[in-house]
Amino acid sequence: MSKRVGVYICHCGTNIDGMVDVEKISDEIGAAGGDVVVSRHYKYMCSEPGQKLIRDDIVELKLDHVVEASCSPKMHEPTFRTCVSQAGMNQYMFEMVNIREHCSWVTDNRDLATVKAKALVEGAIARVKHHKPLVGSKKPVTPAALVVGGGIAGLTTALKIARSGYKVTIVEKEEIIGGRMAQFDKTFPTLDCAGCTLTPKTSEVGRHPNIEIITKAEVTGLIGDGVLEQVEITQAGVVTTRKAQAVVAALGFVADLGAMKEWGLELEKRHVVVDSAMHTNFKRVLAAGDITEYPGKVRLIAVGFGEAATAVNNAAVVIDPTAHVFPGHSSEGS
Ligand SMILES: Cc1cc2nc3c(=O)[nH]c(=O)nc-3n(C[C@H](O)[C@H](O)[C@H](O)COP(=O)(O)OP(=O)(O)OC[C@H]3O[C@@H](n4cnc5c(N)ncnc54)[C@H](O)[C@@H]3O)c2cc1C
Repeated sequence: MSKRVGVYICHCGTNIDGMVDVEKISDEIGAAGGDVVVSRHYKYMCSEPGQKLIRDDIVELKLDHVVEASCSPKMHEPTFRTCVSQAGMNQYMFEMVNIREHCSWVTDNRDLATVKAKALVEGAIARVKHHKPLVGSKKPVTPAALVVGGGIAGLTTALKIARSGYKVTIVEKEEIIGGRMAQFDKTFPTLDCAGCTLTPKTSEVGRHPNIEIITKAEVTGLIGDGVLEQVEITQAGVVTTRKAQAVVAALGFVADLGAMKEWGLELEKRHVVVDSAMHTNFKRVLAAGDITEYPGKVRLIAVGFGEAATAVNNAAVVIDPTAHVFPGHSSEGS
């Protein structure tokens, strides 16, 4: 079935137009026809007159899909989604491409920037035609997390989550928590007493009202309809579940990944591949400590501390979408 697509390309003043031939792209896309019913360019599409152009076209030309080529979707996707929905179009029938940060701002070659911008717009036109109207829904969630592994990385992660006011479960396969650090007297490179760092953490974890510790247990499954909702735990053959919005895998350097192999995580040898935010390939599952793998990884306690902080801040946003990844500095506001 043919579609009725409207294409709108923004100059962003000279931000885009200075390096991308916006008018040429708009004319060529319009002349190519096909499912494109209208192709327009305007100085500032995000302005009220720019948005009005789109709204009027949706109504008058009976558009069923809209493509916007302008700045980063982070900046104005909500603006344009609101704009199309004000004209009665489902907001998800809209597609946006970033020809500012991805084209005009990253080159001084006007010809190549124009070629790339046109290709992005054409890609968006091809894509938007597959969009279907969607309806948002809300589900009650339990703002809680689960940490697998009670070594220094897992304990640090759990404490940070608990101190932020969220419930957290630690699942440890051994009888006691502490991990490898519990076996050391002093630690390289500072020759600090290992117990002096570890014991305050194990004690606080043990008494923190937001923390539940389950030892001699393993995570045997992640349960959820598209996104993680619950975690299955097996302890002495007995299977239970805990609600969790995020899981942080902090299993350390393990010889046998056991049940974790079945989670569907991207592994490299015996490690879990993470990005710079400590996210694994599995939505809502993060990792920290010796278990992680990325270029240049160093397996030291201090690195685990840093990764725990990164994982917690990124997990916080998963648990509570109103939270911020950057927690701020203690000196702020003082
Ligand atoms: C011999 C040796 C000496 C070291 N010396 C130093 C040093 O001097 N200075 C330094 O900075 N670093 C040192 N390191 C490195 C340091 O020990 C690690 O970087 C650090 O302990 C990693 O912490 P972690 O929490 O990631 O892992 P770990 O301390 O290994 O903790 C992982 C925890 O996860 C649990 N676990 C594993 N699998 C599962 C599972 N399937 N389910 C549930 N729980 C699970 C484990 O039982 C363990 O409690 C040394 C390492 C070794 C091996």
